[in-house]
Amino acid sequence: MRYLSTRGPTAAVHDPAAPGFTEILLAGLAADGGLYLPETYPRVSSSDLAQWRALSYADLAFAVLSRFIDDIPPADLKALLARTYTAQAYGNGRSREQAAEITPLRWLERPDAASGEGGLAILELSNGPTLAFKDMAMQLLGNLFEYVLAKRGEEINILGATSGDTGSSAEYAMRGKRGVRVFMLSPHQRMSAFQRAQMYSLHDANIHNIAVRGMFDDAQDIVKAVSNDHAFKARYRIGAVNSINWARVAAQVVYYFKGYFAATGGIGGSNDRQVAFAVPSGNFGNICAGHIARMMGLPIGRLVLATNENDVLDEFFRSGVYRPRATGETHATSSPSMDISKASNFERFVFDLVGRDPAVIRGLWAKVDKGGSFDLSDTPFFARLPAYGFVSGRSTHADRLATIRHTFEKYGLMIDTHTADGLKVGSELRSPEMPMVVLETALPAKFEETIVEALGRRPERPAGLQGIEDLPQRVEVIDVSVDAVKEIIRRHLD
Ligand SMILES: *Cc1c(COP(=O)(O)O)cnc(C)c1O
Repeated sequence: MRYLSTRGPTAAVHDPAAPGFTEILLAGLAADGGLYLPETYPRVSSSDLAQWRALSYADLAFAVLSRFIDDIPPADLKALLARTYTAQAYGNGRSREQAAEITPLRWLERPDAASGEGGLAILELSNGPTLAFKDMAMQLLGNLFEYVLAKRGEEINILGATSGDTGSSAEYAMRGKRGVRVFMLSPHQRMSAFQRAQMYSLHDANIHNIAVRGMFDDAQDIVKAVSNDHAFKARYRIGAVNSINWARVAAQVVYYFKGYFAATGGIGGSNDRQVAFAVPSGNFGNICAGHIARMMGLPIGRLVLATNENDVLDEFFRSGVYRPRATGETHATSSPSMDISKASNFERFVFDLVGRDPAVIRGLWAKVDKGGSFDLSDTPFFARLPAYGFVSGRSTHADRLATIRHTFEKYGLMIDTHTADGLKVGSELRSPEMPMVVLETALPAKFEETIVEALGRRPERPAGLQGIEDLPQRVEVIDVSVDAVKEIIRRHLD
């Protein structure tokens, strides 16, 4: 499989000079500023679906990902996936049987054959080491990086900024990996005590936590400045693991298949039925994987995109206008991992929507990259939108509290604030015959404060994470300074 950039030069299929999977794995953005996508989406047949239904998570991951990855020997890829998706890594204190499912489906309302009611379910994606769905892809990325770097005899120094979930997920995925070091910037004293403990209590020699006396945006700006120093970047082999990384999107495609099979009757079920997925969205990475699963031929009837008060994507799917917000216009909400001003993966979907014409993307993003917006409402592209299955809605702090309460009272299930956004919007946009699967993106233990506000009680913590705030922490605190970060990197590498 070859990969092309959303910004061209041309979308020539079967270009032998185009990069393969392992080449783009470490690359981040394409040189022209675009995002990588496979030159065509592999199609799955009904006999593929019939066979895949019975597979374990790791084997299903191999079936799906081997269609996108042909430059790693199949036996190596299979072994790598078997090491990644284990009941141990996704155990989280659950029964062995539950843990072996990796992403178990939990029905809130079971389907009813007599009435034709499709049912409502939660797909659990947060049983990895940091209790958020980002582990599903990041754990694989850690193993892929280690494998590819060892093959090439190279090393990489990952520099990132986090407001919470991504940083811890990356650190748990990369800890102890050969050839990989992580330098992770976080805003000093602005994360929850639990989030701080998750990151700063890691003592692995290849993990470096740097707290910046500033906001998340200050940390992000430092990362950009360091990456724009091309000489420094090359000399110290600086890389990233941000949400535009193609391997992260590809890894997420797998659980749409897993969720589909579980929602349509498990082993022995039928592949004729359509399923809807509701996805709490920020950078459009998670739901982009759903779009790709659908393009591959998985019978997804509807992709329900849920935003919080930061509704830039909801606005687009309703009106055709994409208007990224200024930083000052971005609200700090109680589903903070969805507090984005622009959706970095969105360009991938728009590329498909405009018939994969890189010239159109270059034109649209020439405006976006200058802080502007675009409007597709009067174009044939907007008219095509329903054919892609997307619908959208938004949710507010009051909605989150009500949904968390209602879900706890009616189904006895405690959900986190992001999942609540998905459940709120998904419930509104249900059509009776189609099972609605809401993607769980984090566990409530990560967002204790809002759970207490909604329910007047604390969420349970998985065994092993009790008292992690009391563990010794290792973090270097610095002022907002590009030079200070470069100095730390030099100190560890020179
Ligand atoms: C990252 C994240 C999201 C948003 O996912 P995108 O792929 O950026 O759309 C939603 N919920 C949680 C808990 C997250 O960590």
